[in-house]
Amino acid sequence: MVKFAVPYFWKLLIRRVSAFHHKWTYHASPSARNIVVIGGSFSGVHLGKRLSETVPTGHRVIVVERNSHLYYLFNFPRFSVIPGYEKQAFIPYDGLIKCAPPGALQFIQDTVTHIRKDCIQLASGGQIPFAYLAIATGSKQNFPENITASESREACNELRQIQKKIQAARRIAVIGGGALGVEISADIKSFFPQKIVTLFHSRDRLLHQFGPKLHGFVIAALQKMGIRIVLRQRPRVLPERNCLEWSSHREEFDLVIPCTGQTPNSTIVTGFAPASVSQETQRVLVKPSLQLQDARFPNVFALGDVAETHGPKMARAGYFQAEIVSENILNMIRGNAPNKLYRPMMEVEGAIRLSLGKNAWVLHVPGSDRDLLVSGDDGKLDLGINEGWNMMRVKMEDGK
Ligand SMILES: Cc1cc2nc3c(=O)[nH]c(=O)nc-3n(C[C@H](O)[C@H](O)[C@H](O)COP(=O)(O)OP(=O)(O)OC[C@H]3O[C@@H](n4cnc5c(N)ncnc54)[C@H](O)[C@@H]3O)c2cc1C
Repeated sequence: MVKFAVPYFWKLLIRRVSAFHHKWTYHASPSARNIVVIGGSFSGVHLGKRLSETVPTGHRVIVVERNSHLYYLFNFPRFSVIPGYEKQAFIPYDGLIKCAPPGALQFIQDTVTHIRKDCIQLASGGQIPFAYLAIATGSKQNFPENITASESREACNELRQIQKKIQAARRIAVIGGGALGVEISADIKSFFPQKIVTLFHSRDRLLHQFGPKLHGFVIAALQKMGIRIVLRQRPRVLPERNCLEWSSHREEFDLVIPCTGQTPNSTIVTGFAPASVSQETQRVLVKPSLQLQDARFPNVFALGDVAETHGPKMARAGYFQAEIVSENILNMIRGNAPNKLYRPMMEVEGAIRLSLGKNAWVLHVPGSDRDLLVSGDDGKLDLGINEGWNMMRVKMEDGK
């Protein structure tokens, strides 16, 4: 970790200095060529930010995002359970635009419906031509019911509806023992200890993609809180509302919260470069340079959860992939080969910090011989959402 940290922080310092220099030397131009990024979440935002600090005059970055704000997913489970914090989970984009050199970075709220050879088609009817394109459309997930609104005000209301349903229910079933299911179960039980919470998971280990050590720690913590855990079962939701059936059991609940499955948002790529979408995972197939596998489109990249990068499906991995994509686009602009290759560093990119109820947390860092687990009970109620606002370079009190 130290071997990684020292050069990394040195690189960050150099980057800060060159971004400062770039801000004074970049000139906006009406005929600038567009670098379009589709998706303004963790991967797309970081890519937009990095490119806006480095693109030469004559190019500009346009991020097209369906939502009005960055939806800070990490905190959705907590903010679906306790009221009063939901507005903080939606972070405006203005801070990033203000910090970029004038004209270098633009956010457009719209949905991309089609990709063509040299332009994208928007749901609003317009088109945006591009010289380079990066696809960072992530995946769809139930949270714990779909948050479908693209405007933050309505999305806040959707979170409040979930809070109300949880408050009204006594017997609650959570289906899916990934990060989302574990965090929401622990939050419900620790904020409302009188509720009866059952967590179902289809595998024999919770958070199975993170290895046995994290499972052992988490299952003990959840059981100590009084959460019932049913492993190796995929309960069927019966037509009678909130009734579940598994093995030879049938049980009624007041509320069933599905926390299963993620579907990559790759349909726009299917229509454009079908050979670059995996039949098996629906993810976008990319080369180690993160260019589409389809060699006909060397100027099109994919990164983050939507891409089959062989890295972990984590926001931190998206940051590292954004670095590769931005360096490769800059190389191509300068007439060089896109020779930066993505090699996942699991110890850094695959680390996860989970909340386990009101104050408890656990950090899991995968290692080549041994995984590292660190835990504590000094967690914050808002889960340190301030970090998200800092990342977006905006103060919470200025948010709208
Ligand atoms: C409960 C939970 C806890 C987590 N904790 C951690 C953690 O501790 N650390 C960590 O690193 N990761 C964590 N993750 C994983 C992390 O949230 C994801 O890896 C990350 O969100 C992926 O980012 P992304 O930008 O690739 O995609 P997404 O976050 O899925 O974003 C994709 C964006 O693209 C937009 N979009 C999609 N299609 C279109 C279109 N056609 N037109 C315009 N816009 C479009 C969407 O609106 C969305 O904003 C956690 C996830 C969950 C659920």
